[in-house]
Amino acid sequence: MGRILLLLEHQENRRLLSEWLAPRYSVILPEVAAQVTEPADLDSQPFDLCILDARALDHFWEWVQATRAAEKPVILPFLLITTRQDVGYATRHLWQSIDDLITKPIEKIELQARVEILLRSRQFSLQLQTTNQQLQQQIVARQQAEAGEERAIAAQHQSEIQFQRLINSNLIGAIAADIEGNITDANDAFLRMVGYTREDLKQGKIRWNDMTPPEYRDRDRDSIEELRNTGVCNAFEKEYIRADGSRVPVLIGVTVVERSPRLNCVAFVLDITQRKQAEAEMRNALEKERELNELKSRFVSMVSHEFRNPLNLISGTAQLLVRSNNKLSEPKKQELLQRQQAAVNRLIELLDDVLTLGRAEVGKLEFNPIELELEAFCRQLVAEMQLTAKEAHAIALVSPGKRFTAKVDKKLLQQILTNLLSNAIKYSPQGGDITLELTCQKNEAIFRVKDEGIGIPPKDLQRLFESFHRASNVGGIPGTGLGLAVVKQAVELHQGAIAVESEEEVGTTFTVTLPMDR
Ligand code: ATP
Ligand code: MG
Repeated sequence: MGRILLLLEHQENRRLLSEWLAPRYSVILPEVAAQVTEPADLDSQPFDLCILDARALDHFWEWVQATRAAEKPVILPFLLITTRQDVGYATRHLWQSIDDLITKPIEKIELQARVEILLRSRQFSLQLQTTNQQLQQQIVARQQAEAGEERAIAAQHQSEIQFQRLINSNLIGAIAADIEGNITDANDAFLRMVGYTREDLKQGKIRWNDMTPPEYRDRDRDSIEELRNTGVCNAFEKEYIRADGSRVPVLIGVTVVERSPRLNCVAFVLDITQRKQAEAEMRNALEKERELNELKSRFVSMVSHEFRNPLNLISGTAQLLVRSNNKLSEPKKQELLQRQQAAVNRLIELLDDVLTLGRAEVGKLEFNPIELELEAFCRQLVAEMQLTAKEAHAIALVSPGKRFTAKVDKKLLQQILTNLLSNAIKYSPQGGDITLELTCQKNEAIFRVKDEGIGIPPKDLQRLFESFHRASNVGGIPGTGLGLAVVKQAVELHQGAIAVESEEEVGTTFTVTLPMDR
């Protein structure tokens, strides 16, 4: 509903017009008693059409001008009611301030027609204004969108330049490849990493799937799946087989650049050899540390066991001798002294083993090879061992029966064979045959010590040569777990090798191979 402001001083006209217009429009009717009403009083009420008479126009002249100007470019129509004679005096100036006029006497029909037309022009003008504003907004939005697009294109261009620079910088390997394994492009860093040439690349000789070791193929399949689903795949570690067959560990990140006709990707490939080495060194250091700690605790428990027994025995027999006040018979005394001597020997043996190992560890174990006639040496040793073994064991030497010599350290070889033979005796408590077999082939002397004893459980075989390690089936058989560690050190000083085969309850064979002429 249009809002009409009536500024009429003529009382009769005021009444008449408001009566005519009120049913169809919202009429605003301020008191405009001449000279009393201030223009400011009118501003509080917005309106779409103002009907005023000549006196009001005269009084509010400046307000009319200002109000119209403020609404521009929207039309705010002013309709002047005047007498016919006054029209003749109207100036051009006046016509610029009003939009229409009605001369008295006023015809209701004519008034309604003009009011309707003026309100409609106001309405159109308002619509035009709104449309215009919307258009303006659209233009601005469009301009902003275009500016945004331009910026995006510029940014893309910039990032392409940076990308190209990164590839050319050869800081990291970069390849363009398809899903079938073809590498269509690669930078120098990548070629260097995998040891191929640009010529190889041109000839299609470099294929990423051929360079991938079998154990990484599943991982590759997962990545391809990820690429298909998301367009990128998280960086992952794998290895490539170089042109020379060696392997290079890499970190690789892939992104899809094209989906059809087939999946095309670019990938960044980082050589992580150094990182892997650092990791391995770290792991080794930790492992060493752990081994050392374990060794320490095993040593402590060994010392408390193995050293205490002979020491107790020595102190026990000594007390007996002291307390007996020379009342013991001579043979009894001799027996006690012999037992003391045996215990002392056992302690010396233990200390020897610990010292040998300690020296081997710091690389100070002496190694003095001499030409040694092996068969004679073994024969002598077997005879000595047979003396210490009970009758339950028969120790035999099996040898080719001819003389042959090798350059070995006599003391160390003695340690090797005594340890192996005494183990063979100790770990076959039910007795049985023990053989030391000596052979010579391809410039190697081979010593094989075989028994029919308790054997070694498979799970213990691996760690047999570590200090203090004893198999789980030793039961009450005494021992420190040092003998084989000493043997291994002595064999290694000869640049030889030691191997073991064993079956529980059947028997064990240790084979020592020493080069005869280093
Ligand atoms: P010692 O230091 O007194 O020799 P040990 O005999 O226990 O003590 P090693 O000679 O180093 O130590 O042997 C390590 C372990 O290997 C033994 O404890 C035993 O469990 C196993 N072993 C060695 N030789 C034999 C063998 N011939 N038959 C069965 N087990 C054996
Ligand atoms: Mg032993």
